[in-house]
Amino acid sequence: MPVVNDQAIVIRRLDYSETSQVLVFLTRGHGLYRLLAKGVKRSTRTKFTPGIDLLERGDLSYRPCLRTEGGLGTVSEWRQTEPYLALRGEIRRWYAAQYAADITAAMCEEADPHPDVFDGLDALLAGLAGGNETLPLTAAFQCGLLRSVGLWPDLGRCVICDRPAPAGRGAYYAAHQGGLVCRQCQPSQAGTRLVAASVLTALREQRFDGPEARGIVELLDHAFVQAMGRATSVRHVTG
Ligand SMILES: [Zn+2]
Repeated sequence: MPVVNDQAIVIRRLDYSETSQVLVFLTRGHGLYRLLAKGVKRSTRTKFTPGIDLLERGDLSYRPCLRTEGGLGTVSEWRQTEPYLALRGEIRRWYAAQYAADITAAMCEEADPHPDVFDGLDALLAGLAGGNETLPLTAAFQCGLLRSVGLWPDLGRCVICDRPAPAGRGAYYAAHQGGLVCRQCQPSQAGTRLVAASVLTALREQRFDGPEARGIVELLDHAFVQAMGRATSVRHVTG
């Protein structure tokens, strides 16, 4: 396989041995790649090589090998271009960044490009590092990711009977149905959640900077939990 060059963000880091790492990169133009980086942890008395860190952006050269082909691609070269340093100094910001990396790793696939998700993750990490509020940034990222992977919930009507959802009112949300259900259909659906009118209105208007941001993050997290089939670390973001 020839070497591929792309921008990438490290979204998972798995230790492998004293001198190697296995990393999951979100590349901008080629989707996710799980790659072996050799020689990155080595440090000596005279020279320190710190390795490749979680949630940094860089220019990546790699030889891909798909997981479905049973192999592991390799990192040929990594040049860090943005460490988002300031997000590492505060635990709430770091948790939000890790949450975003976790849902990205779970929702994106190898060799399936989502440049908009890459740009969204870059914007989130830069925003967190820039000292902006955590919850509005997280909500905006969740929205972009759900749209990009085709899981944006239907907020305009009941997904069972098609009745329009009235504006300015709360409604029930059913994650496993991918949208709202009306009061008539709600009793037949397990696991629905009542969403406050203010949260629903802010979400429909894509307004994340108000007091509804926490409710939006919690609501959208249910869509990820449903799709991933496991819990997320959202409580570290909203708590
Ligand atoms: Zn209905």
